[in-house]
Amino acid sequence: MSDTHGHPHAWRRQFLKRSFTFFGAFAPVSRFVKGAQKPEPAHPAAPSPVRASTAEPHSRNEARYAAFDAHLHCPSASGQVWQWHPVTRTFEEFVSYLDRTGVQRGIINSVRCQEAKTPAEFIAGNREVARYVEKYKGRFLGAAVVNPLFIDEALREIEDCHKQLGFVWVGELCNYMAPFAYTIKEFELLVAETVKMNMVLDVHTELEEMEYIIRQFPQATIVFPHFGDGHEYDHIFKRIDLVAQHPNCYLDTSGYGHDRMGMLEYAVGKIGADRVLFGSDFSINDPSTVIARIRNSFLTEEQKRKVLSENLQRLLKTVSA
Ligand SMILES: [Zn+2]
Repeated sequence: MSDTHGHPHAWRRQFLKRSFTFFGAFAPVSRFVKGAQKPEPAHPAAPSPVRASTAEPHSRNEARYAAFDAHLHCPSASGQVWQWHPVTRTFEEFVSYLDRTGVQRGIINSVRCQEAKTPAEFIAGNREVARYVEKYKGRFLGAAVVNPLFIDEALREIEDCHKQLGFVWVGELCNYMAPFAYTIKEFELLVAETVKMNMVLDVHTELEEMEYIIRQFPQATIVFPHFGDGHEYDHIFKRIDLVAQHPNCYLDTSGYGHDRMGMLEYAVGKIGADRVLFGSDFSINDPSTVIARIRNSFLTEEQKRKVLSENLQRLLKTVSA
């Protein structure tokens, strides 16, 4: 059975210090390309040297935008990775590819949590995330993933992740993985805990689920990944319009629909430039295609900066205070 998200689950499946130095102004891209083994040439396949005058405008354009990814699934230490054909298997390779694409920062959750069948597994996955956050200081923020079917452990884990590890984000919760329905009582308790901890809730939804969650939890700060869902053309406008009508909701650019010409412009036009977040869904999808669409879009320079990084920074300040 295929899900609507594209996660290849049928195959194989710290520390936000309370300081906000993390959210400070971005330095030029090159400063963040740490850990890259060697810089990629600008035009590796070019048969003859490219004149600097040709290459320069492009690199200047790239350096203008910082990219802060709201939607990253990192591999587990044991090698669980969400990728249709694995090419970045380790966390180091995951980071190295982000370097190539120009993603300087991001919110990470672990595939180990997504595939967990027991509380011990999702707890261990969140601890792996915390270690990566610590290791790459300032580059990533950890997101907690839990399974509400183990509600006692899930609630305790959300609190632990917040109070002990400094996480301010719950999700992306993918209910088709567990699976569970968002209408269950346990999910209500999970959302209540997220609200109590003043954390962001990030939930993968089909349109009907989105409508239910928005109606049911007006007090929550919610990020909905993906412009579209499994009924892309039929639902994408409705999803965007729903987010537009609810100021507590955000939409990330990942997955379906951002690459349909005009949809990014429609989303920013309807929702406004402040609640559309750059998200890639890497390691499933390629961040560079999303960044390219945003950079080449008909948005203003200010709107592009907001979508690519500033909106997420601002959102994080509201939940971390
Ligand atoms: Zn995802």
